[in-house]
Amino acid sequence: MSEAKHAGETGFVAEWPNRIVPGQKVTIYRAEEQGIDVDGLKFAVVCDEHGSIIGETHLPGAVISMKNPDNFCEGCREAQKGASK
Ligand SMILES: [Zn+2]
Repeated sequence: MSEAKHAGETGFVAEWPNRIVPGQKVTIYRAEEQGIDVDGLKFAVVCDEHGSIIGETHLPGAVISMKNPDNFCEGCREAQKGASK
């Protein structure tokens, strides 16, 4: 469950287990290297489970989003709501 499944991909920076969707990852890429368009921002944070992407200028912000996918991912917000019922 915790293997680094994205390590080695083009532009890969970091990945973190999705705390809302067990077994899934949230991944940071260098947007340009990975070919993700996030309005020219340097980093792209991707929710594997729902395919949501947010752009971040600085790595610390990207890390916060990576660890809290409900900050940017509608699907994770919904999943969290469902789980906390
Ligand atoms: Zn999500």
